[in-house]
Amino acid sequence: MSIDSTTTSTAQLPLVRIKPRRAQPFFGRHPWVFAGAIQIVEGDPAPGDEIILASNEGQFIGRGIYNPHSNIRVRMYGWDQETPLDRELWSRRLDEAIDLRRLLFPDASSSSAYRVVNSEADGLSGLTVDRYGDWLAVQFTSLALACRREEIISLLREKLKPRGIWLRTEKGIREAEGLELEDGLLAGEEPERTMFIEENGVSFGIDLRQGQKTGFYCDQRDNRAAIARYCHGQKVLDLFCYSGGFSLAAVKLGGAKSCLGIDSSATAIELAKANAELNGIGDRTRFEQGAVFETLEKFQQNQELFDVVILDPPKMVRHLKGIDKAIRGYHSLNRLAVDVLKPGGILVTCSCTGHVSREMFAQILADVAQRSHRPIQVLEARGAAPDHPVSTYCPESEYLKCFICRVL
Ligand code: SAH
Repeated sequence: MSIDSTTTSTAQLPLVRIKPRRAQPFFGRHPWVFAGAIQIVEGDPAPGDEIILASNEGQFIGRGIYNPHSNIRVRMYGWDQETPLDRELWSRRLDEAIDLRRLLFPDASSSSAYRVVNSEADGLSGLTVDRYGDWLAVQFTSLALACRREEIISLLREKLKPRGIWLRTEKGIREAEGLELEDGLLAGEEPERTMFIEENGVSFGIDLRQGQKTGFYCDQRDNRAAIARYCHGQKVLDLFCYSGGFSLAAVKLGGAKSCLGIDSSATAIELAKANAELNGIGDRTRFEQGAVFETLEKFQQNQELFDVVILDPPKMVRHLKGIDKAIRGYHSLNRLAVDVLKPGGILVTCSCTGHVSREMFAQILADVAQRSHRPIQVLEARGAAPDHPVSTYCPESEYLKCFICRVL
């Protein structure tokens, strides 16, 4: 249908036309329209206004929200000419997201932790909602949905009835989106400083207000359970351990003989120690503050070897232009990890850098095998847990790769 034969529901909206031959990804429902793809903006939309996206010839593509301060000039939320981006649409999207989590966590309780809304992958670009027991931690990473936060928060209250909703902000979001937000209570009661959740039968203390991300890395839940089977009686090294997620799974679920966790953050190390005590496995775990590269180099020099090495580094780059540096970083990290693995040892290696694809990550491992003359067998190629779905419309929503390998 052509926009020039406008229907009443789209007639008053500003129009954003895509450059010739650049519209294909958006007909494919990609939610991010970068400034460089835009031919012209007609109708002078304000930041946060709904717009119609059309091809250069005026063919309707979809409905999005405009933000002149962001490189992602338009975020797309609807593909139907008749359906406006209103409360009803947000409500439907939230219902779809919540339905999936009810399917995944039918016995959810006050100690459950999972992602309720996963941004693009749930058709809500720039909104993540994590559930920690009876509280929700909400993040807005798009101005589009931040402008509609009262509507969204009231819908979340209605549908999930949390005891409270806490807003977490991401570093750099003011620069990226022109968004001024501050952490704080959005609704209901303030969360306790430390709350407790359970994952795969392991307990964790969580600081929803100040902990990393929104307090915990729920995306690794199934990977933590998966590594346990390789750990029985083993000596494990958990690098970038944060609050001890993998370490505790290795020891408590897997029956590892010992586990050493390393993280550069003192707060993370304190949390990890407390979590080990909480689970009654303080005697088989050790957590030390340190830098991973230096620690690995030290073990390599001392020829100290491990049966299992886990690598879960933070995101290496945000922009495509830093990609070579990221690849070099992953290469040297994995190379060092292989050097401290016994023959036949298990390497669990993760990458949460969206710009490093699964294929690129597999190639890095192939290069490491070649250079180190250590054959690497991939036993499991895994991703994020299913409460962090991936949208086929937005390949970038597949950010987490986790390979479990045997290194000969
Ligand atoms: N594996 C963790 C999550 C890791 S997040 C889990 O299962 O929960 C990445 C962690 O790496 C953060 O805790 C951060 O403090 C730490 N970190 C970042 N750079 C580091 C470095 N150079 N050396 C050691 N730790 C680092």
